[in-house]
Amino acid sequence: MSVAASFSLAAARQLDAADPLTAFRERFVIDDPDLIYLDGNSLGRLPRATVARLDEVIQREWGQRLVRSWGEGWFEAAGRIGDKIARLVGAAEGEVILADSTSVNLYKLTLAALAARPDRQTILTDDLNFPSDLYILQSAAALTGRRVRVIPAADGIHGPAEAICAAINDDTALVSLSHTVFKSGYVYDMATITAAAHRAGALALWDLSHSAGSVLVDLHGAAADLAVGCTYKYLNGGPGAPAFLYVRGDLQGALDNPISGWIGQRDPFDFALDYAPAAGRQRFLSGTPPILSLAAVEPGVELLLEAGMAEVRARSVRLSEYLLALYDERLASLGFRLNSPRDPARRGSHISLGHEEGLRINLALIRDVNVLPDFRRPDNIRLGIAPLYTTFSELYEAVERLRRVVVERLYERHDAADLRVT
Ligand SMILES: *Cc1c(COP(=O)(O)O)cnc(C)c1O
Repeated sequence: MSVAASFSLAAARQLDAADPLTAFRERFVIDDPDLIYLDGNSLGRLPRATVARLDEVIQREWGQRLVRSWGEGWFEAAGRIGDKIARLVGAAEGEVILADSTSVNLYKLTLAALAARPDRQTILTDDLNFPSDLYILQSAAALTGRRVRVIPAADGIHGPAEAICAAINDDTALVSLSHTVFKSGYVYDMATITAAAHRAGALALWDLSHSAGSVLVDLHGAAADLAVGCTYKYLNGGPGAPAFLYVRGDLQGALDNPISGWIGQRDPFDFALDYAPAAGRQRFLSGTPPILSLAAVEPGVELLLEAGMAEVRARSVRLSEYLLALYDERLASLGFRLNSPRDPARRGSHISLGHEEGLRINLALIRDVNVLPDFRRPDNIRLGIAPLYTTFSELYEAVERLRRVVVERLYERHDAADLRVT
């Protein structure tokens, strides 16, 4: 069946029935079957296996085994789960570890990179980057007397890849970008930009927060130096779950963690008075790993490994192309604009729609018609497609409800000043 022929609920259900990954939806807790959840790019759903895993960690590992559990798997957890995430993002064993938040990891790796390029003054980034990333780069620059150069995106949608490559020179210490940008969903060509950085002697640091579990990432194929990323979005690790960081194996010995805490020490239980870094990725840890939150990350990552990242990505493209076709057919004429790239090769797993009344439409979606997207200023309604549990019929139904909100002017009842976090 062609996509164009599938604009009915029955046809959408057929697409679901025929899709090889549809069954993965049952592996998640679905409490309200009527709710159309399109915010898995902000907080992923709860995997059923996570409930059992956390119960085990709390009841047995903490409740019964107590401090002995540190020697029965807790110390290795951050690296063990890191190795699983490595398989999702094209890294090797021993290169990824979980720690802290994405922001803190970005800070650590940015300072480590700047220390490795002492004679260069500039950090390059773009104005599509996540604000927290910009703040972190600014503070790292302020601390080390460097500067941040922000390359603007001409249309606010597509990353200024050529302008970035042209701006890289022998004063560039670091190029730091979000691989998939949070507003439009644009995806950078990691290999091209990393190669441009390397030609000039700079390092490249990628934020994979919106890429891990949604697009194909090949850190080794792209020769990426450094990366950070979030586990509570498409990896379904739970609210505030610890983030991951990647340092390419051959760089690990050359870079220092600026937050040199005891867990990154060569032998924490020696209680030596002077810091000496652990070998390998372990040195990028600072304090005690948050075991309960770490445990919650593993089942979601295992689900993605079970499905296979190539399959997950292929399904994400099928779903988002379907949503785009629905947009063209049913929404474009209602005052919506596409604020995401058309080309699926340059698009992550969410689609942003702009509308003059975007904010109030978003409120009406949540309050009146049980659709949960999120909103990013000035006018973006972000529709996040989580490939493991979003379905074709949900997308069909979400667009029907979105049309209703606009055609029946349901949004007029809402006050734009009311928006809280979604
Ligand atoms: C979600 C996200 C973050 C989150 O950072 P935290 O430190 O976990 O709050 C960082 N960067 C990007 C690009 C993100 O999308």
